[in-house]
Amino acid sequence: MTTTANYDIAIIGGGIVGAATFYKLQTRYPHLKICLIEKMPKLADHQTGNNSGVIHSGLYYKPGSLKAKNCISGRHELVAFAREHNIKHDVCGKIVVATDEKELPNFEKIFKTGLENKIEGIEKIGPDKIREIEPHCVGIAGIWVPCTGIIDFRGATEKMVEIALSKNTESRLLLNEEVKSIDHHETHSVIHTSKGKHIANKLIFCGGLQADRLAKMDKVSIREKVVGF
Ligand SMILES: Cc1cc2nc3c(=O)[nH]c(=O)nc-3n(C[C@H](O)[C@H](O)[C@H](O)COP(=O)(O)OP(=O)(O)OC[C@H]3O[C@@H](n4cnc5c(N)ncnc54)[C@H](O)[C@@H]3O)c2cc1C
Repeated sequence: MTTTANYDIAIIGGGIVGAATFYKLQTRYPHLKICLIEKMPKLADHQTGNNSGVIHSGLYYKPGSLKAKNCISGRHELVAFAREHNIKHDVCGKIVVATDEKELPNFEKIFKTGLENKIEGIEKIGPDKIREIEPHCVGIAGIWVPCTGIIDFRGATEKMVEIALSKNTESRLLLNEEVKSIDHHETHSVIHTSKGKHIANKLIFCGGLQADRLAKMDKVSIREKVVGF
């Protein structure tokens, strides 16, 4: 069993959202004692370390929406972070391809959304240029999106946590420790885990696809349910 410790903030979930939250908070407020609690033996073992590794451009999202703004500013920050900290990545670009006439109206809609979202460098290209960029790809029209890329999300997650931990020697990464229940008190919360308990003034939940389970465990009344398919 671990001993009881006091933290200013406990972050639950060690995927990229929990890691980025830890990194940003700890960098901005180095004096805060923060713990990141993750139930798996290593970071990024759920969605983050098993996804397609794409740095999305923000091409498809509704212009002006929070999703569009978050995706575009997040992409800039992620690539800058990867460059600064030598995280494996490649801004290789992608082509969105219309394979026949039927797809052209939707193709035009995507291009218009991309322009409204100010996706850097997008341009319409023809069949020859498509083949030149990707010889295995055939289409009647393409949108070249040069700012899309691929990245090692696991490496980025680990680096964010490493940097956060270096800012305060009393902050902790607690792996292999599942949050089982939480008791709230006026000034603090007690987090009961598979290894013991921790006391924190503030909690931040970053449980990914288990966010609904964590909310339920924390007696938050939600109608939403994450459904795997
Ligand atoms: C198949 C697939 C492909 C994808 N491809 C891409 C892509 O190419 N590019 C892209 O940008 N996005 C992609 N995504 C989306 C992206 O992976 C997610 O948005 C992102 O990883 C979510 O990060 P997260 O930290 O919220 O969740 P997660 O990475 O799932 O992390 C949540 C963490 O919480 C932990 N946790 C849960 N419950 C508890 C508990 N009780 N106690 C302690 N810890 C707990 C889990 O163990 C887990 O590590 C993809 C998603 C999927 C499913």
